[in-house]
Amino acid sequence: MCKHGQTVPGQTTVTLERDGVMVILKNVPAEICDNCGESYLSDETTRVILENAEEAIAKGIDLEIRHYAPC
Ligand SMILES: [Zn+2]
Repeated sequence: MCKHGQTVPGQTTVTLERDGVMVILKNVPAEICDNCGESYLSDETTRVILENAEEAIAKGIDLEIRHYAPC
């Protein structure tokens, strides 16, 4: 947190790595700091991201690139 910027609604790309599996989620809704570009995710968004990651890991693939999709 740089404490200098204001957050504005936007989208970001989130990369997760777990157990040697990499999951890249695009178009994730986030609050973006207009000063440093840091993105902040809501608890609900984080939960969906982790669900997406678990799905990819369950499929047994090494790399998954998908669009953020709340279910
Ligand atoms: Zn900032």
